[in-house]
Amino acid sequence: MLDMSSNDNIHIGIIGSGRMGTDIARYLSEYEVRITWVCQGEGERVRCAGDYDKKLGRLHRNGLIDDAQLRERKSGIVITDDQGALSGCDIVIEAIHENAADKARLFMGVTPFLQDSAVLATNTSSIKPSLLISDDAVKQRFAGLHFFYPVKLKNLVELITTEYTSEKTIAVLRDFLSLIDKFHLEMPEEEGFVMNRLFLDFQAQAFRFHHDDGIPMSTLDEIIIQNIFPVGVFEFFDTVGIDTMQQSVINYTEDLAGRDFYKPMIDSLELLLSRGRLGRKSGAGFYEYPAGRKKAPVLGEDTKKHVITLLRCLYINAAFRALEKNIWSRDDLEFAVREYMGIDRGPFATAEEIGKAEIKSVLSRYFSITGFEAYRPSALLC
Ligand code: NAD
Repeated sequence: MLDMSSNDNIHIGIIGSGRMGTDIARYLSEYEVRITWVCQGEGERVRCAGDYDKKLGRLHRNGLIDDAQLRERKSGIVITDDQGALSGCDIVIEAIHENAADKARLFMGVTPFLQDSAVLATNTSSIKPSLLISDDAVKQRFAGLHFFYPVKLKNLVELITTEYTSEKTIAVLRDFLSLIDKFHLEMPEEEGFVMNRLFLDFQAQAFRFHHDDGIPMSTLDEIIIQNIFPVGVFEFFDTVGIDTMQQSVINYTEDLAGRDFYKPMIDSLELLLSRGRLGRKSGAGFYEYPAGRKKAPVLGEDTKKHVITLLRCLYINAAFRALEKNIWSRDDLEFAVREYMGIDRGPFATAEEIGKAEIKSVLSRYFSITGFEAYRPSALLC
């Protein structure tokens, strides 16, 4: 448990200075915590320290923080490329690229620097945390803490435990999440990353519409934005990063039956990866940047309706399937999806609107034609 009564602020370590490491560091810097942020190499350290100073300067100039807060924020963070600087941390959060071997190697190298009581966490979006630690004692102090981007706007973190994670570690992480004002969903790693998995069939179907029916990606994104979620599938993938998405999709689908359903999505991601098109961060992914999505050709009304209906049904079905697992309450899942997607009505409210019988009927039709598991209606859709 965190000692909230102590005069010393808790000390958080963050490893990685990409999209997530940077965003987590910036979010935590608004709280009364001490931060040690480890970047990879001197060049990254200089860049991150410069960007952080510029950001603080802007906040100060705009009157959003006063002189005392500016001093506190500056002294509250150490930006370094030295892993040894993590030695006094209470919790260390790893946010390097999505590669199990590299993450495991990192933890192996970092652990000897840490105090025996330190809790370690990974921000992985798809790798089972237990695959990342080999030392039995460290396994007990380890879990997944899956933040979402942008951290400040998404009031949601997934706390992913392994069979080894101790109750004490879980309590420390719960306290930490409450201290930083995050709602969290807890889950065992076998059921990990529920939010991302919930959108997997929906996303795969968008790729199928493009691949099988020749509907342009920009048209599909436009339809999604106007009717379902604030962001399209292809631009979402570009924003997250094609490398992260490719690795995640492989990990999410490896144990699933009917894997062919995901083939167009996996093939497209692998093709982009082989061409070095990593999304926004490399200047090109499904779209070219900074231009981004181009004006989309319009579909006929019937086709458009069909696209919207099937995409909605798949996402709602996945939410009911998650509910079937009896791990999360309906209200918590509904809230989490609303936070994750930035929408007013989550899957269960939308299901009431459409009618569960209608959703079941649409999916059953597809299931009987294709046999793909993704279309099999949840038992709760009745
Ligand atoms: P990214 O590609 O933007 O950044 C990865 C960073 O890791 C780079 O800055 C690199 O310098 C750094 N790095 C690599 N090895 C390192 C080492 N040994 N020490 C210190 N730094 C090292 O990746 P990202 O999008 O920030 O993703 C990071 C993690 O967060 C991944 O596990 C990803 O799955 C997860 N995640 C990503 C998102 C997202 O929207 N991109 C959302 C939730 C979770």
